[in-house]
Amino acid sequence: MSRFPTYLTADQEDELKNIANAIVAPGKGILAADESTGTIGKRFASINLENTEENRRRYRELLFTSDSVVAENISGVILFHETLYQKTKDGVPFVKVLQDKNIIPGIKVDKGVVILAGTDAESTTQGLDGLAERCAQYKKDGAQFAKWRCVLKIGEHTPSYQAMMENANVLARYASICQMNGLVPIVEPEVLCDGEHDLYTAQKVTEQVLAFQYKALSDHHVFLEGTLLKPNMVTAGQSCSKKFTAEQNAKATVEALSRAVPPAMPGVVFLSGGQSEEDATLNLNAINACPGPKPWALTFSFGRALQASVLKAWKGDDANRADAQKMLITRAKANGLAALGQYKGGMTTAAGGESLFVAKHQY
Ligand code: 13P
Repeated sequence: MSRFPTYLTADQEDELKNIANAIVAPGKGILAADESTGTIGKRFASINLENTEENRRRYRELLFTSDSVVAENISGVILFHETLYQKTKDGVPFVKVLQDKNIIPGIKVDKGVVILAGTDAESTTQGLDGLAERCAQYKKDGAQFAKWRCVLKIGEHTPSYQAMMENANVLARYASICQMNGLVPIVEPEVLCDGEHDLYTAQKVTEQVLAFQYKALSDHHVFLEGTLLKPNMVTAGQSCSKKFTAEQNAKATVEALSRAVPPAMPGVVFLSGGQSEEDATLNLNAINACPGPKPWALTFSFGRALQASVLKAWKGDDANRADAQKMLITRAKANGLAALGQYKGGMTTAAGGESLFVAKHQY
């Protein structure tokens, strides 16, 4: 046996690379619609809508049946297990609806966060048991990529070495299992924006977390060209008294990435993390406009920042479907422009500047 055996064939590597590159094609990004049943319930509560399976199906149908112009800016959608197997009211599987628009279906495969004993309420993410079998089945059922979210928080003594080590390792293990089953892993080590810390602290912590992450991916022989990274943008804590500009956030973000993320990794798909829709778009635009080498695509994989206006316009009433779908198309367009550094601002939608912050956010 050679000292460095490869665990993927050249064909498997090519397939993963092609999927990853298609997701981060210029001006395109991801709609994260993988809210767990509990989380979508909280979103529905904001519009007084009951969290039933039928309402979840109706809402996801609204998102996925938006005019195909949306595919100019949305290359992939992350689904929750239940949604992957749901259909439109006319019986067309959601997976087919997306594929027919040339949108790649993806799947959330983690099983949520749990507390790490002996830490200051830090967490790891569970879901490795049976993961290979689930990935193989999801691939058969049309998914081409996967997502697994880990969470780190900034405090006086956090993130701890234990939390950074554990989360980097579990993400690397997940990534390797996905790749063996033909799914591109989106590696998501999210540093939460809860706290009073400034931009500099957020940058240093993000750098450190990413450094742990790429060491672990290397240790697990993960094929970086067939992965994507889903990090937080570097921004000051939600309760920081000092405010920073989009340009300052962008510089801190690009610096952190350039110090820790190898150029072999094709694309960064940022989460929105509680920023308002407009702030998330403006920060993404500033990141792309930031001078200096940026060897990866820098685009979006937004949940709240692509859906807040949609929910607000829809209100659970199908009479508002067309308006709600227009919100999605507008935000997708704005973020597509931002991914090219060409967003000029002003494409406002119903929830435009509203904060979407949720303390200690679950997904
Ligand atoms: P937000 O954009 O709402 O932060 O969510 C994206 C996501 O998928 C988090 O895991």
